[in-house]
Amino acid sequence: MSEPRVYPARDREVAAAAGENVTAGLNVAQARAATHGAGPLLIVAGAGTGKTRTLVHRVAHLINTGIRPDRILLLTFTRRAAQEMLSRVERLVGGGGRTVHGGTFHGTAHRLLRRFGQRAGLGADFTVMDQADAEDLMQIARQALGLGDKKKRFPRKETLHDVYSRHVNTEIPVAALLGAEYPQFVEHEEAFGRVFADYTARKQDRNLLDYDDLLLFWAMLVEGPLASEIGALYDHVLVDEYQDTNLLQARILKGMVAAHGNITVVGDDAQSIYGFRGATVRNILDFPRNFPGTTLVTLEENYRSTQPILDVSNTLISRAEERFTKNLYTRRTGGDAAWLVTAHDEQAQTRFVVDRILELHEDGIPLREMAVLFRAGYMSADLEIELAARRVPFEKWGGLKFLEAAHVKDVLAFLRVLENPRDEVSWYRLLMLLPGIGETTARHAIEHLQGAAWAITAFAEFPAPARARSAHTALAALLEELRFAGSARTGKGGRHAGGTATPEDGGSRDRGLGREVAAIRRLYDNILRERYDRVEPRLADLDQLQVIASGYPDRAAFLTALALEPPQSTQDLGFGSDSEDDSLVLSTAHSAKGREWDAVFVIWAVDGWFPMARALGDDEQVEEERRLMYVALTRARNHLAVSYPLNVYDTRRGADYSLDQLSRFLDRGVRAGMQRVVVEAAPVTDAPAAADAAIVDLRALVKARFSSN
Ligand code: ATP
Ligand code: MG
Repeated sequence: MSEPRVYPARDREVAAAAGENVTAGLNVAQARAATHGAGPLLIVAGAGTGKTRTLVHRVAHLINTGIRPDRILLLTFTRRAAQEMLSRVERLVGGGGRTVHGGTFHGTAHRLLRRFGQRAGLGADFTVMDQADAEDLMQIARQALGLGDKKKRFPRKETLHDVYSRHVNTEIPVAALLGAEYPQFVEHEEAFGRVFADYTARKQDRNLLDYDDLLLFWAMLVEGPLASEIGALYDHVLVDEYQDTNLLQARILKGMVAAHGNITVVGDDAQSIYGFRGATVRNILDFPRNFPGTTLVTLEENYRSTQPILDVSNTLISRAEERFTKNLYTRRTGGDAAWLVTAHDEQAQTRFVVDRILELHEDGIPLREMAVLFRAGYMSADLEIELAARRVPFEKWGGLKFLEAAHVKDVLAFLRVLENPRDEVSWYRLLMLLPGIGETTARHAIEHLQGAAWAITAFAEFPAPARARSAHTALAALLEELRFAGSARTGKGGRHAGGTATPEDGGSRDRGLGREVAAIRRLYDNILRERYDRVEPRLADLDQLQVIASGYPDRAAFLTALALEPPQSTQDLGFGSDSEDDSLVLSTAHSAKGREWDAVFVIWAVDGWFPMARALGDDEQVEEERRLMYVALTRARNHLAVSYPLNVYDTRRGADYSLDQLSRFLDRGVRAGMQRVVVEAAPVTDAPAAADAAIVDLRALVKARFSSN
């Protein structure tokens, strides 16, 4: 490039008297938002304009003006995001930042319900079910009502749960939801109602809460008699990524700040990507109406990306049907155009990504400053193999199937019934594992437990049929052994939360709750060997589970953490726990939200992959996919490459090879701002056939492990 690079002028900082240090490093509009006084504040701005940074500085400012840190609530999309923001607050104002309450909506709901739930009629030691458990309970309700028979096609448990969850989160009547999304089931509307009623009663009986309940009960708390007490907990509430909240969350916020109106939210409608879960961009648009007296701040300068990268993202999002935030500008005028990379097939794409990453690494970019993004977790399988083979360390965010794996859930079911003997779903799961126990016996056993008021000791007295007797005896013995172990309340086996390991803890896998998992595995590993063909990787998963469990003082802490904050990355699971490790990030586009890297690769920019095929029939879903692509592109600071294989080996469609199209989002206008790159054919294609076959086998194996079913 021949044009000289322009050295950008900075805004002159205008520091408010009391907050000199907190406005340093903010532009005028950001500083105005950070030092805003009382009352509702809405910051609407595009990607990389410093929304999150402004929020951090605002928290610091509030502390500087004398607000007690523990009277500030900062709500974020992941716990990790809250932790990072609060450590930045600490850097600005010192140790005080540590006591700010930060976390997700669900995590905060859980904390408040443990504290206030009993006074609102909730059992003291409720258990939180994850989505899969909630679906299983829905299945139990469906069967109990006799709706499982084959006469008429009745919706599956996943559909039932989806409709239920959307109904709770969006407040749209069930009939309207069915009409719009499942017209084939409209005739069953009344039956949906019966299943939901049964499901709700079961949850209450069994002392279980699902994810949606956490929000629902929180909303009810702040709208009921305890409202003023709960509202009085915080003087200020701040929310990042507001575009991805739902109506229930808006109601919660309204209740939380009813007394003082001190609420700050930041968001970008162009990055709203959780509509499929009931989030609504209306929350941003209606904010001024919901919170009268709102001060609005907009930001238009992007500090993250170079001009060429921003140009491509701006053009891509300018095609969106509806949009409120404006196009962004940047003063980072230098830089390479974004690359549009064509590869012959998936392997060539993989080879390109790894080669280019190594090249940039040699130029001095640390691996952790680079990320590869994709639409869905399984799309990185091939890349993961290649990275492992070439010894490039990486961690993966999102799309993690570890906790969804059947064998992991099996072991967790043991822990769950020990923690909450009323947990019918987990009883069912573990009983069905036992040799000699089928559906009928499992049902009888559960009825027996229910008849004994869910005392776990009652299981030993269950008259098991002859063929199940030895399994029954073994399980009863295990339950008896573990009844008191691992529970902090008894003081046996558990360590103090956050306590340090003592030398007598022995091997790291057998500390704390790890010991309990080890005991369960003495029974379960044999069952696993019977049930599965490929045993080794599953046993390795259980080893890993044992390591994670050993880090927790008791069952309750562990199960809650797994349900509320499922590990986001392999790093969260304890692999390479040294966070200073330099490793590349592989992430789904969803999990990349809010982050940034020097170099970003977006792979599989193929129609049907990104956008996903199942979104294509629905205009609104296509728009959400477009925003998701916008999120992906706007993560890049200096280098952006979007790649797509020309030939796609697609097992899911049953075809061998199909010629696929470039993603519709990269239309001619978008491409005009990009630099075309063609990957040279890989020498590997000349290798002998036998070698080819071996490679394909291995890849297929791994792919099977990552595929969604
Ligand atoms: P997203 O929409 O992706 O969440 P965002 O609006 O939250 O983005 P930030 O992540 O806060 O943006 O900021 C993007 C980058 O710009 C960060 O590296 C941040 O440090 C930098 N930045 C923001 N404001 C300024 C500023 N006034 N001066 C210098 N750098 C800034
Ligand atoms: Mg942000």
